Amino acid sequence: MPGARAPAAGGGPAPRRVWCEWAWTGAGDGSPEYGVLVETAGGRITAVSPGAVAPAGAETLTGLTLPGLANAHSHAFHRALRGRTHTGGGSFWTWREAMYRVADRLDPDTYLRLARAAYAEMALAGVTCVGEFHYLHHAPGGTRYADPNAMGAALVRAAAEAGLRITLLDVCYLSGGLDPGGAHRPLEGAQRRFGDGDAARWADRAAGFTPVGDHALAGAAVHSVRAVPAAQLPDVVAYAADRHAPLHAHLSEQPAENAACLAAYGRTPARVLDDAGALTPRTSLVHATHLTDDDVGAVRLSGATVCLCPTTERDLADGLPRTGDLLPAPITLGTDQHAQLDLFEEARAVELHERLRTHRRGTLGTGALLRAATAHGHASLGWEDAGALRAGARADLVNIPLDGVRLAGADPARAADAVVFAASAADVRHVMADGRWTVRDGVHTLVPDTAHELDTVIKEIH
Ligand SMILES: [Zn+2]
Repeated sequence: MPGARAPAAGGGPAPRRVWCEWAWTGAGDGSPEYGVLVETAGGRITAVSPGAVAPAGAETLTGLTLPGLANAHSHAFHRALRGRTHTGGGSFWTWREAMYRVADRLDPDTYLRLARAAYAEMALAGVTCVGEFHYLHHAPGGTRYADPNAMGAALVRAAAEAGLRITLLDVCYLSGGLDPGGAHRPLEGAQRRFGDGDAARWADRAAGFTPVGDHALAGAAVHSVRAVPAAQLPDVVAYAADRHAPLHAHLSEQPAENAACLAAYGRTPARVLDDAGALTPRTSLVHATHLTDDDVGAVRLSGATVCLCPTTERDLADGLPRTGDLLPAPITLGTDQHAQLDLFEEARAVELHERLRTHRRGTLGTGALLRAATAHGHASLGWEDAGALRAGARADLVNIPLDGVRLAGADPARAADAVVFAASAADVRHVMADGRWTVRDGVHTLVPDTAHELDTVIKEIH
């Protein structure tokens, strides 16, 4: 694998002093602070000192510096669909058929290379942690690999080689869907690769996997009420509870899911999850687009997080979530199918789509959107100690200078507003994850020709 290099082992990263011209610490809500000295050792921040004069020997970051960004909802293999599925009409359901065709062509080797390149693209966009919603478990036809977690292991290794942390959300996926009459269909075609038979066998396989590396955590997921019958949900919920692990689930992405769920159970998907004990403070509900008032109340009461993926939701014509109604539920961000890979676009779209829905501006300000992209995202993936510029936190830094064409002329004291509402992933210049530089001057330090690697593996798959 040309260019592949695992992060240096042992000893931890060297101590560093980084002086940030402007840095967002959250202390001023959406406003950055000037002259912030960040000191790190062993992959942790040891001190954050605003109003500091740059000491001799410190590295200097101009423009704005943020904590690491968390991409809370990813399907790495969907990156192979970019630019190939967005036109020509169709629906979520026809898009899904195209996605299945890619899923059918992957094996542990190609998935490692595809995910490594996709994660390297994430790192270039400022992402220091990914939540991988992983259901491509088995070989074509559903045969188990010799190592039944070979595909998950490939994803964990891919993240290490791309220099970011991963929470591998092992997805329970048992059924091919709920038909309009309310019956669960068996897995068919490419879906056979996703299934373990029942939740108990899913749990056995998932429990047999311990991710290698201190960059990785394991979590659990319910694909959706379409893919997991209600009677199977308690096993998944118990598995996550026993491990105090994150539990993620797709929820009410499409009206057809709600209609079929009502036909099957006489209850909404949110109620089915709630009745199974799946709505907890460790839970992330992905999309949560078509919710009733009762659903919204249940989500708010539970303390669950809502993970929004606006660039995917608009591409798939899902609809607009009731974002403002769901507050104060923590909001997180995911690039999901990676039609775009830009956390700034996801962040501003949460607020801008809410403006379209409500005809009002300012439901979420810059501070709230940055918390979604940083601390809330990391916490939803089990990394409570990341996503903030404070002593003790993981040493993640994302630097965005203000000298590019998109940000030139911005008021530096309002740099966070400018970045959230006008920057693109291409404006990210330097990224540190766990005390190591993963991106310098816009180039990935471990995967220097990320575009070439993406191009090679994606064309190989197609
Ligand atoms: Zn998804």
